Formats: sequence, structure tokens, C-alpha cells
Amino acid sequence: MDQIKVVVAGASGKMGSEALRMIKKHSDLSLVACIDLHHKGKRVNEIDGLPDFDAIFYDDINQCLAEVEADVLIDLTSPKVGYKHTKAALLNNVRPVVGTTGFTTEQLDELTALAKEKQIGAVIAPNFAMGAVLMMQFAKMAAKYFPDVEIIEKHHDQKLDAPSGTAVKTAELIQQERQAKQQGHPNEHETLDGARGADFDGMKIHSVRLPGLVAHQEVIFGGPGENLTIKHDSFHRESFMSGIKFAIDHVMDLSELVYGLEYLMLD
Ligand code: NAP
Repeated sequence: MDQIKVVVAGASGKMGSEALRMIKKHSDLSLVACIDLHHKGKRVNEIDGLPDFDAIFYDDINQCLAEVEADVLIDLTSPKVGYKHTKAALLNNVRPVVGTTGFTTEQLDELTALAKEKQIGAVIAPNFAMGAVLMMQFAKMAAKYFPDVEIIEKHHDQKLDAPSGTAVKTAELIQQERQAKQQGHPNEHETLDGARGADFDGMKIHSVRLPGLVAHQEVIFGGPGENLTIKHDSFHRESFMSGIKFAIDHVMDLSELVYGLEYLMLD
């Protein structure tokens, strides 16, 4: 079988460098180029801490995709750049597998329409940890019986967006099953702004940012005399890589954009 030719955007970042290590472990994948801001023209194997690849760094996606033949773009950058990269990939008939979080609904709608028009597979997943995907599905199941729910997500303090894409996605899934409800006392008021967290359809989402954390989430359901906590921890960024590989394998057979790994895992 032909190798799948992969470009990694954000390759020198924390997630991107982990993606390079994942590619190294799989003989059916080949790294053809990388994109970041600071290493233009360098080879991957010239950069400390990155695996031994010959592929070259670009700082511009359009130049990269014009010069290099690629099947898949893995994007692990930041929301604004990730959107631009995903769009450029689709326009160049390259299949995006996007872990970058923080896309707006309008951006997702536009990218979904573009993938449909081009008949090209794409996967955007706010969480590629397979355990986290299951945590979200279990939370959705529980919400049918426990409408009282709050979400606490915890991440490292370099994360730019809050709440996390996973927390929002969890809230969206819960919303599909939950009888609508405003969490907390009807007359509650905050003596400190933000004390009750962000509001999503009456659910509260609390974001913790601390050094030492990677990606963690608890969904706490309350009922008379009982609590149910569904909890997932990513202790290392390696936890996201089996989901990214899974998405790469599936994206080659898709002809539309899929938002969320669950649509592939639970198919
Ligand atoms: P990071 O360490 O800051 O890495 C970001 C990378 O993006 C760097 O390589 C950076 O290049 C590159 N970059 C920034 N601006 C760019 C631009 N204009 N053009 C090209 N490259 C650019 O961040 P991280 O922790 O790896 O996280 C990356 C993304 O993954 C975030 O959105 C995060 O929320 C998301 N994430 C997703 C999952 C998931 O499962 N879906 C899990 C964890 C994290 P330079 O180093 O040259 O500046």
C-alpha cells in the first residue's frame, strides 16, 4: 500500500512534535513537510528535540502545498492560523486532520460547506484522546437521567482558548439529551464576577489553567442524595496521537468534513 504523505503544521510545538514522533512509529505514513513560524528552510533533523526526518520547514501553507505533494495536513497551531490552514488544504485537495481548538461556529460551517463542495474528507476534533471521546459520550448518556450538571475542565496555563473545545463539545452533547435547566438557585448572584463560570444553555463550565496540567475534565451530575462524576485525564500529549492516527486512516475514505472523533469511533 502507498504511504500516506503528511504535512504537519505546528510541527515544532508541543502537540506537533508529538505528531512527528507518532509518524515515525508508523511505516504507512511519510512526513513530506512541516510548517511553523521560526524554522523556514531548515530540515526537521536539524532541530533539537525533533525526530530524524529529512522534511523541510515552510512558514507559508500555500507555498508548501504548491511545492510538496501531500495527502493529509495535520494542523496543531492556533485557532486563527488553523482555520486559514484548513481552508488552504481543502482548496488544494489535501485532507485536513485538525486538532487545533477554538474555531467559531461560522468557521466550522464554512469549512464544512467547502469540504462538501470539493468532496474531500476532513476531520476536526477538539479532542483526539479516545478516552475523552468516550467520556463525552458517557456524559451524554447520563444527562438523560441527571439534568443537573456542571463541567470543570483543567488545562496547562499556555492554552489560549477557554473554555476548552472539549468542554463546549461535551455541553453540546449533553444539551441534546438534557431537559433544559438553569443550573443553580434562581436568585443566585455573583459577589465576584465569573464565580459561577461560563453559561452554556444553563449549564456552568469552569476553566482551570495551571502549570503541570495537560488536559483534564470532570463532568459532575447531581441528583437527590447522589453525585455521578465522569472524569478523564490526559497525562501526556501522547494520549492524543492514537486518535490522530485513527483520523488519518479514516479521512482518506471520507468525502465530507466530520467534526468530532466520535462520529468515526462510534460509527
Ligand atoms: P504550541 O506548543 O504553542 O504550538 C503551536 C505551534 O503552532 C508552534 O509550532 C508554532 O510555531 C505554530 N504556529 C503558530 N502560529 C503560526 C503561524 N502563523 N504559522 C505557522 N505556524 C504557526 O501549542 P500546542 O500546545 O502544541 O497546541 C496546538 C493546538 O493544539 C492548540 O490549538 C491546542 O488547543 C490544540 N490541542 C488539541 C488537542 C486535541 O486533542 N484536539 C489536544 C491538545 C492540544 P512556532 O513555534 O514557530 O511559533
